[in-house]
Amino acid sequence: MADTPNIAVLGAGVVGMTVAKLLQDELRHCNITIIADSFKDDTTSAVAAGIFRPGTSFMGPTDKATKKWINNSWYYWQEILKSSEAPQAGLMAFSSYIFSKTHYNVTRNHLIEDLVPIYRAVDKNELALCGDGWKYGSYFSTVKIGCERYLPWMERKFIEKGGKIVVGKIESFASLPEKYDLVFNCTGIGAKFLCNDHSLVPMRGQVIKVRAPWLKTAFYGDYDTYIIPGFDGIATLGGVRQYDSYNLNVCKYDAAAIMERCCDMLPALKKAEIVAHKVGLRPHRVPVRVEPELINGVKVVHCYGHGGYGVMCSPGTAMDAISMGLDLLKGNAKNKL
Ligand SMILES: Cc1cc2nc3c(=O)[nH]c(=O)nc-3n(C[C@H](O)[C@H](O)[C@H](O)COP(=O)(O)OP(=O)(O)OC[C@H]3O[C@@H](n4cnc5c(N)ncnc54)[C@H](O)[C@@H]3O)c2cc1C
Repeated sequence: MADTPNIAVLGAGVVGMTVAKLLQDELRHCNITIIADSFKDDTTSAVAAGIFRPGTSFMGPTDKATKKWINNSWYYWQEILKSSEAPQAGLMAFSSYIFSKTHYNVTRNHLIEDLVPIYRAVDKNELALCGDGWKYGSYFSTVKIGCERYLPWMERKFIEKGGKIVVGKIESFASLPEKYDLVFNCTGIGAKFLCNDHSLVPMRGQVIKVRAPWLKTAFYGDYDTYIIPGFDGIATLGGVRQYDSYNLNVCKYDAAAIMERCCDMLPALKKAEIVAHKVGLRPHRVPVRVEPELINGVKVVHCYGHGGYGVMCSPGTAMDAISMGLDLLKGNAKNKL
């Protein structure tokens, strides 16, 4: 290895951008190149509402690792949130209600109840906020990461500090454009083909972006219903979770169902102007893959498979991936490969 390591990060979604930037902050003398075939608004990350609320099924290799990823991510976002750059970085704090007509357990979340400043059961008056029939509910404080701002902000900082960007599709680890001392694989659903990983499955999502500047609180209901405020008064309405679907087209039936469920919760949304319909494929894998591998002599650290929680959890997984990568560079990880 040369004195200045040559490192590639494959993927420019929220995971790749976060790995590249945190790595650049950690290693002052290194050449880092991000290689990807889509950037910013063209990634799955840009489709996400970006709320910090893991599903209770979100899973790393152990419960301890999962919790560490979530906690480290929360503190990373809090640091940005309290800086003057929070709005440019796409960080916003708000509170959320989660209601259910049928299941008490969906209103609880063991992964964040002890982490966020507020997580409490709602009272009778709050249960009536979104119409009749809601039996269970919780109220919690959280943050949102708007990738439409976070990705360009991170890319700008990365380039300012000497990072390189290459646009292109990688067909295999053997066909990388140069020789790299270390490669981070942050290709989201693309890893399915790059690594021939059959346990990585697309979980199709569809959302509607509407103009609702009056919305300051998020709401979750049954059947994947969510209403999330955002920057510039644009809220995200969702959603669907379709297992093993590769359909990237907007489905008008999904859109109608989403609109109906969201308007049932908040009738004021009926008048909101529709700005866009978006579709993305969540890279679903249990567990999320953060691990080193030697592939045809190339030192690779995988960081993919974050499912519906890759925006919120990207910093925590990036920190672990980087620590594995630094071990590989120092030659400390031979026994793990
Ligand atoms: C509707 C919807 C709502 C969501 N809501 C939330 C939410 O509220 N909170 C949350 O935390 N998460 C949410 N998610 C999940 C989140 O979007 C994903 O977990 C996250 O975007 C995954 O990030 P990524 O960087 O791994 O993948 P991506 O954003 O897909 O980025 C992958 C990158 O790899 C590149 N790439 C892939 N293959 C190759 C290749 N062979 N060669 C070169 N480049 C390649 C792509 O071009 C891209 O740059 C949501 C997702 C959807 C679809």
